[in-house]
Amino acid sequence: INMQVIKAEKLEVVSHLASSISHEVRNPLTVIKGILQMLKIDEWNDDKRTQFIEIALQEINRANDIIGNYLTFAKTVQQEHITVDLEQEINRSINIITPMANMNCVDIQTNIVPCYIKGDPQLLQQCFLNITKNCIEAMPNGGILFISTQEINGSIEVEIRDNGEGMTSEQLKRLGEPFFTTKGREGTGLGMMAVIKIIKLMSGRLDVTSNKNEGTQFRIFFPSSGASDY
Ligand code: ADP
Ligand code: MG
Repeated sequence: INMQVIKAEKLEVVSHLASSISHEVRNPLTVIKGILQMLKIDEWNDDKRTQFIEIALQEINRANDIIGNYLTFAKTVQQEHITVDLEQEINRSINIITPMANMNCVDIQTNIVPCYIKGDPQLLQQCFLNITKNCIEAMPNGGILFISTQEINGSIEVEIRDNGEGMTSEQLKRLGEPFFTTKGREGTGLGMMAVIKIIKLMSGRLDVTSNKNEGTQFRIFFPSSGASDY
């Protein structure tokens, strides 16, 4: 199953999205508030306190992700347009996700060559992190996260692939739709929306291929900027 994802096109619904987002951010805030109120009562042992704090931190991350991914879509982000060392940015992303991969018994394999594109390093990070996090989450019992780059005819291809649970064709069709998630309470359904937006901002293209119980392959194509003017 293969399709070129162009969902973000249709979604000129930023204001509707804004009200949903404020709603979505209130949920983690409510949880955090509840936890702080409980922590005020001094009757918890250390284990319990640590557990509460852990949940609060997770909820803060969640609120942060929701806002961060929404901002990309709302186009309120200042976009830089500079030559980006893609190899360096991908390696940075890998460093960030390595602890998460280790915790999930996911082995990260790479084949990355030096390459340069024009774009915004911060947004690219967000794009790679959103995709790779999804890949790791799709391999709850471990697996391989494979990341490679290559340059073909002035085009840079970044491939990110997992051998996790994959998607049905229905799920694949909905990828990038705001709030589409199969992760229930754990998901926000905003990560892929931001990914598609970011790739578009950088004149790139995204191809996603997925097969249920086999895995998912993301291929991103960017125009190369060449290393010479770096
Ligand atoms: P979230 O991760 O919060 O659910 P995303 O927008 O990042 O939101 O992803 C939306 C949905 O797309 C996920 O819930 C999942 O069903 C599906 N998905 C995305 N990436 C993958 C992947 N690598 N493997 C399997 N399913 C995926
Ligand atoms: Mg996600």
